Amino acid sequence: MRLGYSLLLGEHVAAEDVGYGDCAAFQIVCPSCGEALLKRIRRNPTLNHHLAHFPTTQSHASKCELRVAGASSSQMATADAIGRGQQLAIFQRVFRPYFAREIAMMEPALNAEAITQHASIMLRRASYRQFCRAVRDYLRTADPATLDEYWNISTDSLAAMSPFRRRRQEGFAHDFFSHLLAPNSLQSLAFAISLASLVFEFKLRIDTTAPTGLTRDVFVATLKIILHGTDKALGGFLERCREPDIRTTLESLLRGLAGSIIFTLMCLPYLDMLKDGRTS
Ligand SMILES: [Zn+2]
Repeated sequence: MRLGYSLLLGEHVAAEDVGYGDCAAFQIVCPSCGEALLKRIRRNPTLNHHLAHFPTTQSHASKCELRVAGASSSQMATADAIGRGQQLAIFQRVFRPYFAREIAMMEPALNAEAITQHASIMLRRASYRQFCRAVRDYLRTADPATLDEYWNISTDSLAAMSPFRRRRQEGFAHDFFSHLLAPNSLQSLAFAISLASLVFEFKLRIDTTAPTGLTRDVFVATLKIILHGTDKALGGFLERCREPDIRTTLESLLRGLAGSIIFTLMCLPYLDMLKDGRTS
């Protein structure tokens, strides 16, 4: 058949999009009977991608073919839209522990529990939430091209993915990033910014190759206020942000934070998150 249904995504997938290994990874089943499918490519007369039942369940395969072919595309579009809504709901639910774990894996000196705790302290400050709103406004209005360098990353784990899986991985990361910039996602965005700031501070502290001088000092001082300053200190800083030199530093800081968040989003184990969220 030309279409399978991914239990993990809660969405229909086209046979030509998926590779051999994707059927198991995405739990692709027959949309009619729910049996697992496998990918096949017939080479004659022309290249023909399809998804097939395993030989042991072949008996009802032709009935399934007919039912799947007969399903209306609007029914499927509705099911897929619901599926994507569920994906987002699951990601929202498990986002924090996975994001913290990913950061702790990248920087072993940072402990997932400790940074989560620090984030919750930061989130209590009204001035920090105000800062996060400013970050959101900046990211929503910034030219998307300024973030391209962060999106076009290559890591070993991305390179090892099948083309279908990689497209989905990038899609999840983009979707979740847009979600973070939505008006009612401030808590999640604030959490991500706090962790990204801690990583940034950690890197600036150990990276001796970073440029020294005024810029670096201003950077370090700015991060210190955001991460550890009192509500009053951060509030005062935000007041002064209209001054051109602070504005420039702030913008490069915001870009760096966005880069760190994007990098982490690109590395999140979305399939594990979906499995986790669908079983818990
Ligand atoms: Zn079937």
